[in-house]
Amino acid sequence: MKKNLQNFTGSLTVKRFFRPRQILLLVLSIAIVAIGPYLQQQLVKAQSVLPSEIATGNLWREASFPVENFEAYTSPFGPRGGDFHYGLDLAAPEGSYIRNWWGGQVVEVWEDGRCGTGAIVRSGDWEHIYCHLRGRVQKANGGRYYTDGEGLQIWQGQVVPAGARIARVGMTGRTTGPHLHWGLKYGGRWVDPALVLREMYSHQS
Ligand SMILES: [Zn+2]
Repeated sequence: MKKNLQNFTGSLTVKRFFRPRQILLLVLSIAIVAIGPYLQQQLVKAQSVLPSEIATGNLWREASFPVENFEAYTSPFGPRGGDFHYGLDLAAPEGSYIRNWWGGQVVEVWEDGRCGTGAIVRSGDWEHIYCHLRGRVQKANGGRYYTDGEGLQIWQGQVVPAGARIARVGMTGRTTGPHLHWGLKYGGRWVDPALVLREMYSHQS
């Protein structure tokens, strides 16, 4: 309750700088560039972990569908063969682009035998995870970065806007075909990405 009140006060403070009727449009246009991560954090914090309960629906207009050349949903979030599948699989042509779901900071890029080449972007309390990327993780100048091998690089610590091309679909790690394994966490807890996509669509005309 205390948290909610603080956030409410926070958004009132922001509103004083703008005409109330224009606040949503202004927030949408400005957020990506400069104060995005801060505003998103404030707004997201005021929300529950269930996307369907989110009151400020316009927020989702900023979010980007995570693949450019979507073909099919090939595996849902949930139990799978005695295991649990912590993400949504989106099939797309190998080498096609992956788009950053929401503006944030690249907090980790890595390689392992399961996710393959992977990246995590943090946006406020949200973390979005991208697996099976085409390309490698490399080190330079004391930093780590993902590269698709064709000029695209994203560095650990880098800020990336929503919709930015951050990687390419590949087949690294455990996969039988080219797809993006897309995971979402809110406040450290896994969220079904399909629920988030549904919310996004219901607020996009
Ligand atoms: Zn998967």
